[in-house]
Amino acid sequence: MSRIDRTDATPLLEVSGLNKSFGENEVLRSIDLRVGAGQVLALIGPSGSGKTTVLRCLNGLEQPDAGTVAFSGGPAVTFGAKTSKREKESLRTRSAMVFQGYNLFPHKTVLQNVIEGPVQVQKRSKADATQRAERLLERVGLAEKRDNYPHELSGGQQQRVGIVRALAQEPSLLLFDEPTSALDPELVGDVLTVIKELAEEGWTMVLVTHELAFAREVADTVVFMDDGVVVEQGPAEDVLRAPAHERTQRFVHRLL
Ligand code: ADP
Repeated sequence: MSRIDRTDATPLLEVSGLNKSFGENEVLRSIDLRVGAGQVLALIGPSGSGKTTVLRCLNGLEQPDAGTVAFSGGPAVTFGAKTSKREKESLRTRSAMVFQGYNLFPHKTVLQNVIEGPVQVQKRSKADATQRAERLLERVGLAEKRDNYPHELSGGQQQRVGIVRALAQEPSLLLFDEPTSALDPELVGDVLTVIKELAEEGWTMVLVTHELAFAREVADTVVFMDDGVVVEQGPAEDVLRAPAHERTQRFVHRLL
């Protein structure tokens, strides 16, 4: 299936003026992002540039100091001292994160890991959550691993469980934080295939990755960050093939 051109897609997510400091360290400075519905945005940049912090701010794992985050169909949440708990909660369920180190619960089985969110957060019945989890595990080829523990799986299998766990939360937006960088090279392909299929199905995603060839394949938009700011963003082909900024050129030419 080829990807539909969705460059004019209505925004699913709009972020403006996002700021975040850890103590004196200003990690994000006035970040603006726009992700169209059904689009894939690849966030690239050197280590320490703030990419993971952007994802964590979107997912509610960190609270931005300032800025506005708005998902379509929801309220625009402006961060600051007065942001209410309810506003923050309203964002949390809109996205689900796939972590670099999988972050599965080691003492829960694959199935228990997947149904945890749907049962605890979405208050689905265990039977319903289990049925849906089984279908999702089936699609990534892990149906027969449902009763295994994470340590009994390869890294690639664990990451596919991580992806299923995110999908089971029925988010509007999938966030991937360097999903293949902890994997042995021979296991990377299976995980990238799953991500590519999800992109082709029209999932909206923000993908932090060093795999620039993969970004070129799946991303509609590429955002290059350096030192807490967005240096350049645009259509994937433009940013990766003919970057306008010198910092982007140096980064891209080193990796592609
Ligand atoms: P990237 O994902 O681009 O590698 P990060 O978002 O992980 O960058 O980190 C950006 C900066 O924020 C780094 O300087 C990092 O040390 C700092 N940082 C990230 N998380 C924390 C934290 N919880 N406490 C203090 N500093 C942090």
